[in-house]
Amino acid sequence: MTSQSKCAYILASILALLFLFEDDREFDYIKGSPKGPEKWGELKPEWAACKNGTMQSPIDLSNARVKIISQPEIRNYKPSNATLKNRGYDISVSWNDYAGSIFINDMEYRLQQVHWHTPSEHTINGKRYDMELHMVHQSPDLTVQNRIAVIGVLYQIGRRDEFLSKFKKSISSLIGKKGEERELGIIDPNDIQAESQSYYRYMGSLTTPPCTEGVIWTVNTKVKSVSRDQIKLLKKAVLYYAKENARPLQPRNDRDIYLYYLRYINELLIIDQ
Ligand SMILES: [Zn+2]
Repeated sequence: MTSQSKCAYILASILALLFLFEDDREFDYIKGSPKGPEKWGELKPEWAACKNGTMQSPIDLSNARVKIISQPEIRNYKPSNATLKNRGYDISVSWNDYAGSIFINDMEYRLQQVHWHTPSEHTINGKRYDMELHMVHQSPDLTVQNRIAVIGVLYQIGRRDEFLSKFKKSISSLIGKKGEERELGIIDPNDIQAESQSYYRYMGSLTTPPCTEGVIWTVNTKVKSVSRDQIKLLKKAVLYYAKENARPLQPRNDRDIYLYYLRYINELLIIDQ
């Protein structure tokens, strides 16, 4: 046995042992695992969309049709009490009370929670980034057809991200502790600084089971920065099966992708990148 294959064998044995001890996970991100992304749609009947859906996320954002808009969409967030949770497959911050809304086509979507994926799930013209933050919003109106709207913010390694740095202590205290929570006090979603003068928009799905479709996706073109240490901490905190918690790219099929540009009254096109 070469030392390389010996190493692989030892690693596989350790993984097998971990599988035995930690089999309460509902799904994982390990390629070829019985609970990996290729199998999500078979694990539960209510997760069938992960396999049969035709509008799944994430996708590569390229060949978008450009749309010019005259006013930015309203994003009106409010500071509110929040809780940090280690969900095993990611770290999330959810707001316990009303934390503000965004409006898409005059429809209100309220911010529920944010969470991080490393590396990014969406790619832009084939380029994958180091991290992606998802801001998950839901319509309070139960009769609305597309009730979920998610804003995706991309990050590449560089300076630290101020929003994520607020949770350094809390995340450090939750390393490997699936299901545990920390009360954060008042957290202002505006501190994410998710504004962008242009963004992609398409109809997709949740990127984790049950992969529900009808999700209105907004992915900012403005790429923010995050430090190597911050990414390291997120990866350390989640469980071994979610160190790389990005779902593989899904087929675009015949979906439209739009690139929205904000045009100011002076006719100047502002491009962020
Ligand atoms: Zn997500």
